[in-house]
Amino acid sequence: MKVLKFGGTSVKSAEMMKHVGEIVKDARAEGQVAVVVSAMSGITDQLIKASTLASQGNDTYHETLKEIEKKHLQCIQELLPPQHQTRTVAAVKMMLNELEDVLQGLFLLKEISPKSRDFVMSFGERMSSAIITEYFKTIGLDAQLIDARELIVTDDNFGNALVNFEETDKRIRKYFSRTDKLIVMGGFIAATINNETTTLGRGGSDYTASIVAAALQAKLLEIWTDVDGMMTADPRKVRRTMVLKQLSYIEALELSHFGAKVLYPPSVQPVPAKSIPLKIKNTFNPAAEGTLVARESVDNGSPIKGISSIDTVALISLNGSGMVGVSGFAKRLFSALAAGRINVILITQASSEHSITVAINTADAIKAKTLIESEFSTELKGGLLEPVLVEQDLSILAIVGENMRNTPNVAGKLFSSLGRNGVNVRAIAQGSSENNISFVTQNADSRK
Ligand code: ADP
Ligand code: ASP
Ligand code: MG
Repeated sequence: MKVLKFGGTSVKSAEMMKHVGEIVKDARAEGQVAVVVSAMSGITDQLIKASTLASQGNDTYHETLKEIEKKHLQCIQELLPPQHQTRTVAAVKMMLNELEDVLQGLFLLKEISPKSRDFVMSFGERMSSAIITEYFKTIGLDAQLIDARELIVTDDNFGNALVNFEETDKRIRKYFSRTDKLIVMGGFIAATINNETTTLGRGGSDYTASIVAAALQAKLLEIWTDVDGMMTADPRKVRRTMVLKQLSYIEALELSHFGAKVLYPPSVQPVPAKSIPLKIKNTFNPAAEGTLVARESVDNGSPIKGISSIDTVALISLNGSGMVGVSGFAKRLFSALAAGRINVILITQASSEHSITVAINTADAIKAKTLIESEFSTELKGGLLEPVLVEQDLSILAIVGENMRNTPNVAGKLFSSLGRNGVNVRAIAQGSSENNISFVTQNADSRK
């Protein structure tokens, strides 16, 4: 069993879907295959835009809906022979009608919940998977579509739902044990145990593919995208990047966690336990070798493998003499953030215990400040803590590599080079595993 995932750009048009068809045909010739697809490129963003407009009482959401419709119908026309079009057009139109009804509801109510946003977003993957399944059939593949919401079960944390692996694995194994067909499903979307639609977080199709691969003990998981593999740095920011031939799971996780968008971080989690190799390949250039992610890291002659960055970071600092020697401050801080489901990207605490600093996503900054102020209201009023400090417009950069552990002076080299070039470092963290060194700096210095 091999699991192949195709991202948005890989299914962005009829022409690209034809390339996907060839790749899948080759894979199918060798054995059992499951295919996971994203929404056509840009569609998830357009669905979010339409739902936002509708919920603001702005009827131009109709225009966005029309664009979404046009893109899918045009793809069907270009992709499928006429006799196969009717059924797919009907299926897609039915979904578009349902979507229109939901948007109309949001428009009338002038409100949107994370739950209804997830439902709206689900149409992207539902439509792309229906179209490509039909196309696979026309090229002689024995394709069968399954709605991912029947297999992937999550909690009700809409927008970023947590997978219930016990139930999900059971359902996946049962479904696949009953069929030899080429199974196709949309990524990113899932459902609660009560069949409410959820999503796995932006970029979540990688995760779906990884969940399926792990449940089925696949021999390989392939992530097909629009670049030749995982690169030494973000190719959109750095001109001279190289494709990494092989990375360990830990290195891939660290790079993706700190911003390498090519892999959605949670997707690295299910596969290591089963030792399933993960390959990143380019749909636009299938001949390129790609990047292999496996248990072992390979020595590429440098202690570091890559650099990644996140440019939407805020730092929140809690300072004050009231923290020195008092236990439980960190626990209360992190519990307050966890209660607001705020993801902490980096933590530093000086040994004087006079301050704790956390890096979070800019979008969470105001909420985090409010939660922390409420948790520590007594200490703040009593002057034991200074006012909560929030700094925005920051970036986190991380250098990653398992071999850093055995190489002295990597940090020395990093920080002296930053110093020499006038890059001011606001916070630093290095885990004792020494797989990465991360630091926070101004947005303006990130590219430099
Ligand atoms: P898909 O739609 O296939 O899931 P994404 O847009 O999510 O594709 O991820 C691929 C993109 O990730 C690339 O086009 C590239 O711009 C970006 N990217 C960021 N950092 C890296 C990196 N270190 N290596 C490769 N790609 C990266
Ligand atoms: N379509 C979803 C998104 O744009 C999931 C994915 O593409 O991985 O975030
Ligand atoms: Mg992606």
